[in-house]
Amino acid sequence: MNIPESVRERAVRLADALPAYVYDLAALDRHAATVRRALPGIELYYAVKANPDPALLHTLAPYADGFEVSSSGEVAHVRSVLPDARLALGGPGKTDAELALDVHRMHVESPGELRRLIDVGGPVDALLRVNLAVPVEGASLAMGGGATPFGMDPDGVRECLALVHGQNRVRLRGVHAHLASGLHAAELLELAKAVLAFSRDLAATEVNLGGGMAVSYRDPEERFDWEAYGRGLACLRDSGETLRVEPGRALAAYCGWYLTRVIDVKRVHGEVFAVVTGGTHHLRTPVAKGHDQPFAVLPAGRAGTGVDDEPVTVVGQLCTPRDVFARRVPMSVNVGDVVAFGLAGAYAWTISHHDFLMHPKPGFHYLT
Ligand SMILES: *Cc1c(COP(=O)(O)O)cnc(C)c1O
Repeated sequence: MNIPESVRERAVRLADALPAYVYDLAALDRHAATVRRALPGIELYYAVKANPDPALLHTLAPYADGFEVSSSGEVAHVRSVLPDARLALGGPGKTDAELALDVHRMHVESPGELRRLIDVGGPVDALLRVNLAVPVEGASLAMGGGATPFGMDPDGVRECLALVHGQNRVRLRGVHAHLASGLHAAELLELAKAVLAFSRDLAATEVNLGGGMAVSYRDPEERFDWEAYGRGLACLRDSGETLRVEPGRALAAYCGWYLTRVIDVKRVHGEVFAVVTGGTHHLRTPVAKGHDQPFAVLPAGRAGTGVDDEPVTVVGQLCTPRDVFARRVPMSVNVGDVVAFGLAGAYAWTISHHDFLMHPKPGFHYLT
């Protein structure tokens, strides 16, 4: 994949301090500005679980109307970084202590949770998280469209409407839907139509359409079509309706790089392996998603210590056959070369099992 000059320069300077994460905050700023411009009249929240790094939160803050958080830990974290940020708290399995938190919006996941929210929380503004029977075939992850632990079906919504009636601790503002992830603009707009039809039946005027905008790990240059999505949402939106989206991956993925160095190139039963410092305990994304993590090789090693233009499987230092970044990718690589994995800005470091094998942790570096 293509690697920006600034990241390449930093990789050279970090030569002896790899593995390391590099976050290109300048690129994130440009990207967030583009996304913001493409969504006039639509509220933009950032889904913090994609990457809670304080520098990313600061970079995104000018473009975000708020932050979607999934635990009391994320609430405390974002408050410590951005004390005035609006927070929407979602996620299945909220504890009573979490339901008692004072947030801008509480996303209610079930009638049982709403009962507890009425008991322990509030006054609070809430959205009901719905799980509608809509097709989500193209998705890489499905949180809705069928039986999942996320949100409630129309029967659950009816039960909730009865519960909120006649009390004033929980003010129902509308509907939240995060049905699937890995979808293109046209597919997300189809889902938005279904969610809006449902919310209008309830006379809800506030609708959070969730995240899930696609990131292609196969073609790292491909981008979600924010312009088409924004135009589509503008057409769908009725006057007086508040529409909100809460992307995580498609905002944060592109700014992150995980830089490693090749420490061995070996041929085993005919297949070539490049072993790099670090591993999927720092960048679990390719294991979690079952893909090849895109990367660039920066020649820095000694000629003749590796292979020329052959399929190579890139692995880390862990003592498990699962520690694979990418399989049989044609490349030239030598011992000492730097391997820069891209699209490592979302669901990367924080979903990884850092302590397995107790290798040193990577450094974190920021390009501004
Ligand atoms: C994870 C999550 C998001 C963000 O999803 P992406 O695929 O990263 O855009 C948004 N909303 C909810 C409720 C989530 O759980």
